[in-house]
Amino acid sequence: MKNSVLLLSLLLICGAGWSQQSKNNKADIDSKVWELLSKMTLEEKVGQMTQITVTIFEDPKKPGYFDAAKLKQGIQDYHIGSILNVPNPGAPTVKRWQETLTAITNEANKTRLKIPVLYGIDAIHGASYTAGATLFPQQIGLAATFNTALVKRGAEISAYETRASSIPWVFSPDLDFPRNPAWSRMWESFGEDAYLSSKMAVALVDGFEGNNNVGSKYSVASCMKHYIGYGSTTTGKDRTPSIIPERILRQYDLTIYQAAIKAGAKSVMVSSGEINGTPVHASKHLITDILKNELGFKGVVVTDWKDIIYLNTRHKVAETKRDAVRIAVMAGIDMSMVPEEFSFYTDLIDLVQNGEVPMSRIDDAVTRILRMKFELNLFQNTVADLKDYPKFGSAEHIQEAYNTASESITLLKNKDAVLPLNKTEKILVTGATANSMKYLNGGWSYNWQGENSDTYAADKSTILEAFQNKLGKENVLYTAGADLEKEDDAEIQKAVDLAKNASKIVLCLGEKNYTETPGDISDIYISKSQIKLALALSKLNKPIILVLNEGRPRLISDFEDKMSAVVQCYLPGNEGGRALVDILYGDVNPSGRLPYNYPRYPNSLEKYNRKYTESISEGEQNNDATYEKSYLPQFEFGTGLSYTTFSYSNLKIDKTEINNTDEINVSVDVTNSGKRAGKEAVLLYLSDNFASITPEFKSLKRFEKITLEPNETKTVKFTLNQKDLQFVNEDLKWISEKGTFTIQIANQKTDFLLR
Ligand code: BGC
Repeated sequence: MKNSVLLLSLLLICGAGWSQQSKNNKADIDSKVWELLSKMTLEEKVGQMTQITVTIFEDPKKPGYFDAAKLKQGIQDYHIGSILNVPNPGAPTVKRWQETLTAITNEANKTRLKIPVLYGIDAIHGASYTAGATLFPQQIGLAATFNTALVKRGAEISAYETRASSIPWVFSPDLDFPRNPAWSRMWESFGEDAYLSSKMAVALVDGFEGNNNVGSKYSVASCMKHYIGYGSTTTGKDRTPSIIPERILRQYDLTIYQAAIKAGAKSVMVSSGEINGTPVHASKHLITDILKNELGFKGVVVTDWKDIIYLNTRHKVAETKRDAVRIAVMAGIDMSMVPEEFSFYTDLIDLVQNGEVPMSRIDDAVTRILRMKFELNLFQNTVADLKDYPKFGSAEHIQEAYNTASESITLLKNKDAVLPLNKTEKILVTGATANSMKYLNGGWSYNWQGENSDTYAADKSTILEAFQNKLGKENVLYTAGADLEKEDDAEIQKAVDLAKNASKIVLCLGEKNYTETPGDISDIYISKSQIKLALALSKLNKPIILVLNEGRPRLISDFEDKMSAVVQCYLPGNEGGRALVDILYGDVNPSGRLPYNYPRYPNSLEKYNRKYTESISEGEQNNDATYEKSYLPQFEFGTGLSYTTFSYSNLKIDKTEINNTDEINVSVDVTNSGKRAGKEAVLLYLSDNFASITPEFKSLKRFEKITLEPNETKTVKFTLNQKDLQFVNEDLKWISEKGTFTIQIANQKTDFLLR
């Protein structure tokens, strides 16, 4: 008896690496970190702060496989703490990832202290660098679902499939706050609203990290990026300067990080840009004073790609690479994504030896890195046992990706109820994005720019294939119609000729694949070749359903009035073609809502929460109606139609006057007044009617997605608190001011007074 208890205890201790570690408490981890740190040499410590891209360890004659001597040099001689990125030619299978991580782990186990190497990856919409993984909509589509539970579930699946790939760290979520919709990474963000972004950020962090259980074999550490102001470039071009007053930074951008930090986000990646003339990588104020000290962030601060070197070569704030290392480390950087050589390592050792960087700064950085490694359980488990991951790429996971795509796709216009389509009518499917997986997935899919989706996702349905699967190949007319960029009159003529045999046209337009600087544009209009096709088809006077596959709102005002319906797909991922076609035929009722203002003109880029003066009209300043008239986005933030109708009534608040400690309870009845079941995202906006800092027109404060059967009514309840009434004043303090506020939910409005 005694023996069997002993045996059981031993089994529990030895065999339960994952579960035992996942219960590790903070004090245990802190003491392990201190113990390890006290044994480390300067070289070993600086090595931990060094992150290198996997491809430099490759054998050039055998892409995707290591040159053993190079890997040995990196791990044994330079003691590197982290490796990132995908081996050539992209997207290994889980088995290949397992072999890759086994080789790295074996090498690390030959070092004196056997500290595991932390592998980080751009798993941006699923385990997007693993062949056969489940790919979800890109982040902008997640925001459009307005469904945090669904988004969290997707992140759990993404974490599961990333850990199945033996990788414990994802460079996600993207918490950028784009102010110019032309920015090439708009689609990696949650759109233009800080509240929606915060809620989605928390859903992703909770999903990735298993609700603060990052040591589980099904969780990964998240990495908030790109701290901070990266998405706010004035020109809309990637990595160009931003001008953001600190008051604004605190009122919007910082709140998103605050929410994700509160949810437990383990790491943060720094913005490659500059704000008000200071590159963020050089800003002690932003990294140490605000992020680490004021917000109390205890995780790892990693640079973006090569960004310390760029302080010297691009930003010109450091005369040498060595000085760039000093500036960045003293600003508060913990890990450098160097990532293609070892200059950071040699320079930082030299700086410490010369007293230019104190050991306390190195210890702070290494403590954070080691803590994350212990929390992730890497000392026990660095390589996945594939038997633990039977659901990798499973039907269950694919169904979740399909559900997410279905709830993200947004019906922006449906004139004369042209949709849903009828299966008996002849349809022409045309447009450059109609028959390729790469336009559904976008960048960060299988490789950086995502141009190989058609190979890796060959078994998935393009939009055309989804039509063919539903109707039978012989029942769908198709021609590409136009190239994305090149004008091709013969192809346009072919589409026009074919359209004569169709009763309706599904016109699929969009953008080429891109992320980062390769996605920069100088003209936000959709490409000329596609405008030409749309105009040519519109002359036939047949209903056209415009389907958009795009990462940012490319202007369509040249022809939008000639379209009967407009459907925004964003970048819906591998299941997006099926989800779209099910929506077009009414098998799924659409419920996405636009997470940004879709502009009509290139010089009218107002946000929905604009200031009153942003749409002023000369001579009529006192007429509120006029303000509204000149504010005319193509489609406003929050637009999203359904095949049923919802009516709102009985907006109630429990107090009409409150003091500065009260909460206010709000309720509204929502009725499905149409004939189909449907989902509705209920959005609550608040306006502070007068304030010493000019108030926003309105601002999203709460949302909830509900499902309603025909004739069903639900009462939706929200509670607003004092924080919701506040803004950042000139002294950088959050304050509220006495006066009236207006709550608006759909067509319902009510006021209350803050005494
Ligand atoms: C991007 C990051 C990404 C990193 C690692 C950079 O160029 O800006 O978003 O995580 O590369 O691939």
